[in-house]
Amino acid sequence: MLKDDLQLLFRVRRDKAPQDILAAIDRSAKVNGPGDLIRCAGCGEILYDVSSPETLAEHGPHRERASEQRRFRCS
Ligand SMILES: [Zn+2]
Repeated sequence: MLKDDLQLLFRVRRDKAPQDILAAIDRSAKVNGPGDLIRCAGCGEILYDVSSPETLAEHGPHRERASEQRRFRCS
């Protein structure tokens, strides 16, 4: 029955999708290589986890100060 065949096809594709996605990510990573390092806009320190609470607590004020200085230079 067509409906059963389509459901089977859909199930097979869903099972295969994560492997295809992982393979595509691996290929892209090899082609693109590592990205640029992310540095704090204020102090220049390399940030390895920009969204961690510790990083935000330490470098958030640096970023705000750097942002204010840029704003003053432009006006
Ligand atoms: Zn900083």
